[in-house]
Amino acid sequence: MIRVCLFLLMLITPQCTAAQATRLPLNDYFAETWNTRSGLPHNSINSIVQTKDGYIWIATWEGLARFNGREFKLFTRSEITGLPDSGLRSLVPQADGSLYISGARGGISHLRKGHWSAQKNASAMVNHVLKTSDNKIWLALEGDGVAYRDENEEDKSVLIDLSAYRLVEDGEGAIWAGTSDGLYQIKNKVAKLITPKSGLPTGPIYTLFMSQEGQLIVAGEKGAWRYVSNRFVSIDEQLDGIAISSVLQDNHNALWFGTINKGVFRLSELGLERLDSGAGLPANRILSLLQDRENSIWIGTNGGVHRLREAPFSAWTKKRGLSGDYVRTVLPHSDGSVWIGSSTGLNRILGDKVESISLANKGDPLSILSLAEDQHGHVWIGTYTSGLMRVIDGKIYPVKSRDNGLSSNEVRALLFDKQQRLWVGTATGLSRIDPDGTTLQYTTKQGLPGEFIIALALDGLGNVWAGTGVGAAMFNDVLGQFKEQAFPKQFNAQYAFGFYAQNDLMWMATDRGLVRFNIVTGDIAILGREQGLPVDKLFQLVAQGDSFWLSSNRGILEVKQQQVNELLDNPQKSKNKRLQYQLYDEGDGMLSAQANGGSNPAAAFHQDGSIWFATAHGVSTVMPERLKKAAQISLPTVIESLYVDGKSTPLAFDGKDIILPPGASRLSFNYAGLSFIMPQRLNFQTKLLGYNDTWVNRQQLTITEYTNLAPGKYTFIVRAGYPNGQWQNNSKSITFVIQSYFWQKLSFKVMLFLALVILSFALYKYRLYHFKKIEKELTLRVIQQTKDLQQQADAFAHQATHDQLTDLPNRRAFDTWLADNFSDFKQQSLPLAIAIMDIDHFKRINDGWSHIIGDRVICVVAHLLSECSEVDTSQIARWGGEEFTLFFPNKTAQQAALVCEELRMKIANYDLSNIASDLTVTVSFGVADSLTVNDYDRLLAQADQALYQAKNHGRNRVEVNNS
Ligand code: GH3
Ligand code: MG
Ligand code: MG
Repeated sequence: MIRVCLFLLMLITPQCTAAQATRLPLNDYFAETWNTRSGLPHNSINSIVQTKDGYIWIATWEGLARFNGREFKLFTRSEITGLPDSGLRSLVPQADGSLYISGARGGISHLRKGHWSAQKNASAMVNHVLKTSDNKIWLALEGDGVAYRDENEEDKSVLIDLSAYRLVEDGEGAIWAGTSDGLYQIKNKVAKLITPKSGLPTGPIYTLFMSQEGQLIVAGEKGAWRYVSNRFVSIDEQLDGIAISSVLQDNHNALWFGTINKGVFRLSELGLERLDSGAGLPANRILSLLQDRENSIWIGTNGGVHRLREAPFSAWTKKRGLSGDYVRTVLPHSDGSVWIGSSTGLNRILGDKVESISLANKGDPLSILSLAEDQHGHVWIGTYTSGLMRVIDGKIYPVKSRDNGLSSNEVRALLFDKQQRLWVGTATGLSRIDPDGTTLQYTTKQGLPGEFIIALALDGLGNVWAGTGVGAAMFNDVLGQFKEQAFPKQFNAQYAFGFYAQNDLMWMATDRGLVRFNIVTGDIAILGREQGLPVDKLFQLVAQGDSFWLSSNRGILEVKQQQVNELLDNPQKSKNKRLQYQLYDEGDGMLSAQANGGSNPAAAFHQDGSIWFATAHGVSTVMPERLKKAAQISLPTVIESLYVDGKSTPLAFDGKDIILPPGASRLSFNYAGLSFIMPQRLNFQTKLLGYNDTWVNRQQLTITEYTNLAPGKYTFIVRAGYPNGQWQNNSKSITFVIQSYFWQKLSFKVMLFLALVILSFALYKYRLYHFKKIEKELTLRVIQQTKDLQQQADAFAHQATHDQLTDLPNRRAFDTWLADNFSDFKQQSLPLAIAIMDIDHFKRINDGWSHIIGDRVICVVAHLLSECSEVDTSQIARWGGEEFTLFFPNKTAQQAALVCEELRMKIANYDLSNIASDLTVTVSFGVADSLTVNDYDRLLAQADQALYQAKNHGRNRVEVNNS
């Protein structure tokens, strides 16, 4: 009775109707387990929660693990600031996104925006923390009752001497405590034990739960109760006496119960179901339960975490009632059911029910290859070894075999055409059974390329197509012949496993990819590995929405029709474009990625929007609409860590920029999308403002590295996306500044530039000055050298014409002058007198004193001569030895003799005592002039003659030539 009430209650909740459509039996969820081998610190999952940011947190006896769908990040005692022990009991997420963590040795820590703040230790192990609506912290303590923390951080006990496990606040502000003594209600800090009078039996209460309807659910050693109208009412009598440790209400309003030693129970409109270690649960001791944002159920056991999710694919198997797991063909029927042909029988699925269809006459289970529905809704069966059969009133009857008209008992494909003729494709040819019973045979003789028939289909014009092991062919009804539609050689394709007709197009799944044939134009194209198809062999193509779903040995491929057509329409242009696809396999709920092919239909579209695939382990179905919906669940992106040159760098949670030292060269960002359904399939895009402003596709990579960034301010932005979905507005960013070395700073650069400019200018100036100086020096040197040269030349010239001892002109100068001027004087009839002077008895001076004294005497005489005002110094010459000549221009010999006489006397009277005592010098002159001679030789001879006379006449005298 109580159960009926419960169901009525559930039925009136609005979610319920939708829920019914999708609710999976408890045993049919796609389950996965994580334990210490997968990276958990301990297998006892004391608490499991999801914080607002999307992370799943797991508390164990050996610390805390944060799960991002791909890996666990561990927080142990040393890393959890202030927690005195790694043994953690409870995790309590808060509405503000923060998280209370509590556990052994009274440890409590509060994690908010990445910052841990340790709270004052409580007196004993903290089993649960409750922050009430008035912002007070209440603690459930192991062995030490219940306490609240006052304004001075002092713990005030409300209950003592018992173990408290769980606290909850109800809508009226009352606090309920589940304890080793039973249930307490605390009002105004006064605790009151709930007695059996209220309907709750005595015994420990392990967990408390406020339902979405605001109803208190209490569970403990003896079962689970609901608090209704001040009474505690057992939730389900089957749970009475079962020790329950945790309770969860899911999004469909079903209640989940984790037990101490019996696994998990779920109470829903499907009844009370149980999941235990026999059905895959890692352990029967359940410590915690959680439903995450994606509606997956997480079960914390003492043997690891077990997760149940509604995977994209679900499977029907022997376990769910199929006759066999090796499924070869699926036929969605017009009545909404789906017929499943396996190697060991035939089933019909309608809703949640599986029906087995058996032979009318007893016999071995049939191995079924193909199925077809006729216009009346009857199902026809192609078998492996028993030929063609059909279902009448839920029983299988044989129709035709090798014995009565089929070429083989191995029937791989069946097709009713427009005229309701049944085409039966066998391993050794094709038969046509007309409504009147006539049976015709088609082999290579009738144009079939091969006789191993694996597929049959109608194209958009109603033509029958046959797929064989060596290509496809189309039936020409007028000719009664098949026309081979050969695959071009370069396709390298042979098997035509499956057809899909779409207007003028006939799509063919082959052993080398997807072939598109245009019936009207005859154009044919193939999408194969070259275009990015990950597998060669495709069995069946199913179109749904804007996608194609392709079955293969490696899983189910989903591709976008538009992209396939683009790649096929313009192979040249698309050369560098790769096919985008989703490949679904075991991780997505398929029990085997190996889809089956080679008989038909191997996959099919159901009118309810689902697609069914025959696989080596059951039949897999996918509801693309549900996938699409899953992709609409908001997907949080998180930046998890930043490594700078290999060193982890703390992320700023306060929105401040991260300051990185100068020279930071390699930055790697780790991020995640917090979806736990298909974490490996999430796509990421990043950009780095300050470096590039457009999104860069990172595909499934959860790390992005930048190297050699110039100093400056950057913002790293990342966003996560579901594989099938649009990008969401979920980007996360961090801003950081790479500092500059002083030499990288602008001010420094400006200063350096200025300094350089100044230096260059100074250098230029210096060079200019230097060059000018050099120029000046050079000029001076040239002038000096020119002068020196001139002086030298002058000296040489002087030397050439002057006597070294007396510095008077020498004989060459005298001769030159005389030769140059003699004729002038003659022409002008001007007199020119010359005198030759000779020192008297000079030998005696030399001999009597010395040659040096003689030289000095010569010098004195020369000096006395040159002092003479009447004769120009340039016209006195040392003619040789102690002989001198004198010119007297414009003078006659008589006039010259007067001057010579004066000179003679002057010399004779000259005191030479400063040269030598008793030394006297006299000289004799011979004078002649030009008046009586015609050449200068003669003039010289006459003067010489006169001198001779002067010598002869006693020396120390002047004689004038008189001839
Ligand atoms: P005189 O002319 O009166 O007949 O007698 P003298 O002794 O002067 O004889 P002479 O003219 O024949 O000799 C000239 C001498 O002067 C010959 C030579 O030794 C000397 N003599 C010539 N040139 C130089 C000279 O440059 N220095 C010196 N010390 N002696 C010179
Ligand atoms: Mg002489
Ligand atoms: Mg002499």
